[in-house]
Amino acid sequence: MRGPRRWRDGLLLLVLILALGGCSPAEPVAQKRQFFSLGTVVELSLWDVDEARAGEATRAVESILSAAQRRWHAWEPSELTEVNEALARGETVRVDEETRRLLASARALSLASGDRFNPGIGRLVALWGFHASEQPTGPPPSQEAIAAWLADQPSMRQLRLDGNRVSAENPAIQLDLGAHAKGYAIDQAIEALTAMGIGNAIVNAGGDLRAIGQHGARPWRIGIRDPRSPGVFASLEVTGDESVFTSGDYERFFTWEGKRFHHILDPRTGMPAGDTRSVTVIHPSAAVADAAATALFVAGPEDWPATAAGMGITHVMLIAQDMRTYLTPAMAERIRFEAPEPAELIVVEAAR
Ligand code: ADP
Ligand code: MG
Repeated sequence: MRGPRRWRDGLLLLVLILALGGCSPAEPVAQKRQFFSLGTVVELSLWDVDEARAGEATRAVESILSAAQRRWHAWEPSELTEVNEALARGETVRVDEETRRLLASARALSLASGDRFNPGIGRLVALWGFHASEQPTGPPPSQEAIAAWLADQPSMRQLRLDGNRVSAENPAIQLDLGAHAKGYAIDQAIEALTAMGIGNAIVNAGGDLRAIGQHGARPWRIGIRDPRSPGVFASLEVTGDESVFTSGDYERFFTWEGKRFHHILDPRTGMPAGDTRSVTVIHPSAAVADAAATALFVAGPEDWPATAAGMGITHVMLIAQDMRTYLTPAMAERIRFEAPEPAELIVVEAAR
């Protein structure tokens, strides 16, 4: 008789726990809204707002991001493609204040990165087939085509911004803001939320995000994707106001004759940057974090500390092709790895 009685007691206990659980107030959760923009799934997380305000906030963020996508698209007809057509003809073109600010920011970050982040490489990106909504399938461009592009040496140094007038000393400059405009638009979205009086939110576009405030009594928790498998590789806690951006070789690529060719190009070689799998940076501004993740990806395992110092980036994690994981001391303090930890962790000061 002992068996069934124990079983009955157990069942009673379970019912009691469930009843108690039902009585206690459920832990509040963040409201999440998803939509498609900037070529990816965007998730807006909001804490402590009612349905009506959540709807209002979602509409505001959605309209800011889709306006950015329309205006600064690199190959579908946009304000940016009009600028590019003028630059190719050697003409001067007028842009509005927002575009001027974005171009000035792109230029300054490009110079600070020593041209590793170079949004003047639109022609090269097109040559590799990445100016397409579908994943390109190859083949890679010929050596001759790459050599011809390299001979033109387009640098943002040669982009002139005279008030709202834009021109270029080098007609080979074609602007592609694929590594900057997403961050810029996320900053605009966060500014709009703040202006609406929303203090606790995340705007996350395909894993690149800016978070403000917190998740109730605790910080926001952010997952960082494993560069080779579907899971989460590490996590971070974010409070206050911070952006977390990752550039990876898994986002857009094609395989040709067994080799992977991805979309982050080294302007010095004209080839996909070879030694990095992914780079994650934390910085207050999403626009800076976006450009910096790309610049440090191109810089690679040897050069990234100097490039990070030049761009004022203190929180970096770089996963190399050989799976060595490099961290700045500030990032090492923040990041929590999922078990198993990376085999080889190397902590390096940003300035060297
Ligand atoms: P994603 O936004 O896909 O996570 P990035 O922010 O690194 O990745 O942006 C990659 C995009 O930026 C490419 O698709 C291309 O349009 C552009 N790009 C590629 N290489 C560079 C570079 N060295 N500097 C600036 N922009 C680049
Ligand atoms: Mg980027």
